Amino acid sequence: MRHRMRAEYGPEGLSGEVKTWHIVRGDEAVALCGRDLDAAAPEQDPSLWDRTPKLNCHTCGAVFLRESPYVPGEHPE
Ligand SMILES: [Zn+2]
Repeated sequence: MRHRMRAEYGPEGLSGEVKTWHIVRGDEAVALCGRDLDAAAPEQDPSLWDRTPKLNCHTCGAVFLRESPYVPGEHPE
């Protein structure tokens, strides 16, 4: 299953800044943590997960690591 990072935006919507990055399976609009995301929200490759650690959804990250043991840049804290 191919995973994608998908953005959650704050109160300003898509014109504002990304609030949190979640991970979805394929083209789904529901994140691994169960949050419904805007289908129009930008996606990016999960290899960029390490780029914005402050914005990452921790629940999605945990589930993602369990489903994808070979995540680039995986490192325990
Ligand atoms: Zn999430």
